[in-house]
Amino acid sequence: MMNACNICNDSLDVPVYESVRAVSVTSLCQVLDGPTRVWHCANCGHTQTAPLPALEKFYAEDYHILTTSEEEDQLYSVRDGKKLFRTEHQVNTLLAKVNLSLNARVLDYGCGKAATLKALRNNRDDVVPHVFDVGNQYRDFWNDFVRAENQTVNEVPGEWVGYFDAVISFFALEHVAGPKAFVGEAYRLLRDGGTFYFLVPNLFANSADLVVADHVNHFSESSLHRLLSDAGFAVREIDGTAHNSAWVVVAEKTNVDSEPILATSVAGKVNAMAEYWGEFGDRVRAFEKANDTEAAIYGSGFYGAFIHASLDRVKSVECFLDQNPHRQKQTLLGKPILVPEALPETVRRLYVGLNPRVAREELAVMDWSQELEVFFP
Ligand SMILES: [Zn+2]
Repeated sequence: MMNACNICNDSLDVPVYESVRAVSVTSLCQVLDGPTRVWHCANCGHTQTAPLPALEKFYAEDYHILTTSEEEDQLYSVRDGKKLFRTEHQVNTLLAKVNLSLNARVLDYGCGKAATLKALRNNRDDVVPHVFDVGNQYRDFWNDFVRAENQTVNEVPGEWVGYFDAVISFFALEHVAGPKAFVGEAYRLLRDGGTFYFLVPNLFANSADLVVADHVNHFSESSLHRLLSDAGFAVREIDGTAHNSAWVVVAEKTNVDSEPILATSVAGKVNAMAEYWGEFGDRVRAFEKANDTEAAIYGSGFYGAFIHASLDRVKSVECFLDQNPHRQKQTLLGKPILVPEALPETVRRLYVGLNPRVAREELAVMDWSQELEVFFP
């Protein structure tokens, strides 16, 4: 149960969302036992999910995101047939937003593989990389480009206090049950005038974030502002457009106050999303019941896994389809992931497991020979 808001400590009332079935889907597309429950804080505009008991095991055993291969990267966009990967886009955005001084000391906090920091060094080899995370599983990746004394696990050395020109973080804060402690630590480790730069999912650009089981925090502009201001930061920028479905945030350790923001309530938007996801499984099953021909799911990310978890008869699903060449080598929930052109001719139904904002556009360019009944999210 959730009693208090992670950001402002205001007390929370009833959940805005509770999954129909007692199963939940994680950001890595695993299906875990236990319902997803989500609360919204009207006071600061934050939305948060109760951590599942099964999550502890998930982090201990399964949360090795993309550690299997160095080249593996998530597809960011496909435009005119050209694929842009997430890491490359993250480096471009970082360099556009943050003015890193020569030989800047940069800490990737909660870094995982630290792929973005590594890629940053291709553009800026003067940057001195430092990494911190809570497990040893990423050491092999770090050893390629971070000196041993600039790597730390679990505990941060005393010399790192007030030491960094920039602390960066990519998609970590949404997983953290104590975001105030995380942000407070970033503040402590920065020098005066240093920059805290981070990305987190933007629920308002991708409503699926509401039902991702391991995303504890779903930030709004106002809850981000509150979190950073309370920690002592001046907020420089909260950009909802520079990275698909993410907030790009720039804050500075300084005595100059933040620009105030005009806080407008997001409760209506959050409630609408909760309603959409509350009905989503029923829509999938209504489509499923209409006939029982062979099916495929287009998209092997969260939407695809959520559709699979909503079905009554998963046996009718032959495969997933995905544009990402790295995904095509893998399986998801026991089913192969194929290049979309390889859709088996026997398949007559297609579930589109993509963000509704892009689903129809991406499907429009596909040209399969057979007639297909299509479910759109
Ligand atoms: Zn709050």
